[in-house]
Amino acid sequence: MYRRLCFLIIRKVIPLSQASAHPGEPHYITRSGWLRAAVLGANDGIVSVSSLIVGVAAATPDPNAILIAGVAGLSAGAMSMAAGEYVSVSSQSDIERADIAREAESLKDFPNEELAELTAIYRENGLSDKTALLVAKELTAKDALKAHIRDELGLSEVHAANPLQAALASGVTFSIAAAIPLLAAIVAPVALIIPVVLIVTVFALAALGALGAKAGGAPIQRATVRVVIWGVFAMVITAGVGWLFGVTA
Ligand SMILES: [Zn+2]
Repeated sequence: MYRRLCFLIIRKVIPLSQASAHPGEPHYITRSGWLRAAVLGANDGIVSVSSLIVGVAAATPDPNAILIAGVAGLSAGAMSMAAGEYVSVSSQSDIERADIAREAESLKDFPNEELAELTAIYRENGLSDKTALLVAKELTAKDALKAHIRDELGLSEVHAANPLQAALASGVTFSIAAAIPLLAAIVAPVALIIPVVLIVTVFALAALGALGAKAGGAPIQRATVRVVIWGVFAMVITAGVGWLFGVTA
């Protein structure tokens, strides 16, 4: 009976990650890694390439110059996005690995202090002294490092950084998204490139905002408005700069 009680209390303080007590209400946190990279990549692709096209089109009506700028923006942007994501996520996983190695060392050198630390964490989470110590002892006996990684460092498999996955997610989504304003610029009559790219981009950003919010289980309207406002803002600034260059050239 007492053990069953402890098990129920453990489930309250440390929810077992994958087992969902309410399958009708899934959690989306496991998607946050690649979703963040994908939405970031797509948003960057649409905004940077459409801004580039609008900026060049504001400076010169030469369709070849506009097309070259669009293709260059897409390929350069996709590569830098993927490389940047790979490097930043790699350094994050380096930090996580170093922290875990330090923790393993400390568990070997200071087992009593580490047990006290874990007990204190459970006490802060609301357990009584006696139960906190019991839980800490049981989890330490089962897998001390795992308990400290999860409950002290706050790391879990769910958030484990995967550099390659993140790099691919952002590079691929950047390219696909950037192709939208580029295709719009290709099919639009030269004189209408700016308004056509602007309208297509606003719709693409709205769709991206809604999709990202839906995939992440977040409120759609707020995410959509946010993505569209910042995207339009970036395009207006770039078009202004391009226009200035066109006037002064
Ligand atoms: Zn520790």
